[in-house]
Amino acid sequence: IDTVSSVSPSIANSILQELQDQRQNLKLIASENYSSLATQLATGNLLTDKYAEGYPYHRFYAGCDNVDAIESEAAELARTLFGADHAYVQPHSGADANLVAFLAILSSKAQKPVLESLGIENISTASREDWNRVRAAVTNQRLLSLDYYSGGHLTHGYRHNVSSWLFDVSSYTVDRESKLIDLDQLRAQLHEVRPLILLAGYSAYPRKLNFAKMRELADEVGAVLMVDMAHFAGLVAGKVFTGDYNPVPFAHIVTSTTHKTLRGPRGGLVLCKQELAEWVDKGCPAILGGPLPHVLAAKAVAFREASQPEFQAYAHRIVENSSALAEACLEESLQVLTSGTDNHLLLLDVTQTFGLTGRQAESALRACRVTLNRNSLPFDVNGPWYTSGLRLGTPALTTLGMGREEMREIARIIKLVLSNTRPSVTANGKSSLAKYTLDSAIEAQAQERVQNL
Ligand code: PLP
Repeated sequence: IDTVSSVSPSIANSILQELQDQRQNLKLIASENYSSLATQLATGNLLTDKYAEGYPYHRFYAGCDNVDAIESEAAELARTLFGADHAYVQPHSGADANLVAFLAILSSKAQKPVLESLGIENISTASREDWNRVRAAVTNQRLLSLDYYSGGHLTHGYRHNVSSWLFDVSSYTVDRESKLIDLDQLRAQLHEVRPLILLAGYSAYPRKLNFAKMRELADEVGAVLMVDMAHFAGLVAGKVFTGDYNPVPFAHIVTSTTHKTLRGPRGGLVLCKQELAEWVDKGCPAILGGPLPHVLAAKAVAFREASQPEFQAYAHRIVENSSALAEACLEESLQVLTSGTDNHLLLLDVTQTFGLTGRQAESALRACRVTLNRNSLPFDVNGPWYTSGLRLGTPALTTLGMGREEMREIARIIKLVLSNTRPSVTANGKSSLAKYTLDSAIEAQAQERVQNL
């Protein structure tokens, strides 16, 4: 840190402050974790200086031997860890991984039958005019994905994301009563929409999904099944989600991040069946420029860590902890969506229980040293900014070694804080959606109890 400080004291200071922050506050953000020191050191080094566009042993730059070795090892480790036909480890993030997958699916369609029907022999040498005809024949296809408010991600066709410009998007939601994805309703919608892609996966859904069944449904209408396992990749690697609940054997293509439950460096990953491998490997130039060799190295380290028996025990403990946290929240009369969880996260409705917005609850808890994020709930009346919910996740606290007892105490602290938080009243006598009041003695008590955990 002294070396960083000698160039930029302010950045060195921010790094130290972040260390302090992550040590002092309870990290309940479902998409975060603590990566190992080995992973962090593999990320922060001279590998950042190397260009290596292309893929292993097929590069557009000279001198890529070491990056070839690193990327091949990372890809092979990912392939075996998840039991996939093929792995592509270059995406810089989960958002990039999804774009790589979308482009791979679209490119794979721009092949023989389409080209023949247009009288084009070779796409690589096609004129710009012919290319435009191919593009028109292949794009503007339908994507059916989980609605943002039901737990889907922005990259799954949200209006302000590039995915909604690439596809004609329809979304499925959870059932209004049960707040669960109803596969019979999904089947009916699939037959109505007949999409090119059925996209499964979520950022905020607390239950497991039956991917064997989803593949059957996708096959009925000839759709590609794409699964975004960004949130639960660690639970797949750690053999919590097995059989019908493991997406890898059933999906044509699977995308992920590497930094959430999987506990690696910040990055993305694509796994696919062999028939899509050729297209997935063209992530550069489709979406990406040069890969990040230092992050590839850290991914290899993290995949090796996730291949150890201890990681399986860790993944099981994540889910034990989130179930224990959900149970404890219910004991405290907090409203837990779907009355529990099968994975690493749970959702609380704070509007119904406490008359607060998610934004107020998030801020009040943060002041008490509990870091979690507000989240839209299905059919949310407060919209995506203020929201009605909180999302709580256990991957990071499980890495710290916390267990059932700590989960109980956390539920009690959340109850203490939220039951004493009130929306502020604005000048015109209305309830604020953002500002709140909380007694400073309660705040101090909650902070102390967090410190004692
Ligand atoms: N997909 C899902 C399901 C996610 O939850 C996220 C991030 O939260 C992403 C993709 C995007 O990942 P990144 O932030 O690495 O782009």
